Amino acid sequence: MVIVIWLLVIIWNLGFGYWIFICGEVMPSKIEIDKERCKGCALCTISCPKGSIRIGEEINRQGYFFVVWDNNGSCTGCAICAEICPDVAIQVWRDK
Ligand code: SF4
Ligand code: SF4
Repeated sequence: MVIVIWLLVIIWNLGFGYWIFICGEVMPSKIEIDKERCKGCALCTISCPKGSIRIGEEINRQGYFFVVWDNNGSCTGCAICAEICPDVAIQVWRDK
């Protein structure tokens, strides 16, 4: 019983995003990037555990190279990218 409670505490402390990341292999998800809000800071690119976001080759109306998402089916919907973005430029859509 103590072990079960201990495991539940660990799972709780991992946080919802990482729990989704762990379960994400069976939860295909997608993200949408608002290119006009993006300032190309690259925080999301270094934060994505799947390495599926990269700085693109086009600039937006603000003059920044905005990020693009490589949709290779590996997105888990963990939403780390959306949570770390200071400009709220990323939306995450999770399949059930
Ligand atoms: S939700 Fe964002 S950080 Fe998580 S896997 Fe998908 S693109 Fe990467
Ligand atoms: S964290 Fe936000 S502003 Fe920074 S590169 Fe990613 S989408 Fe753009």
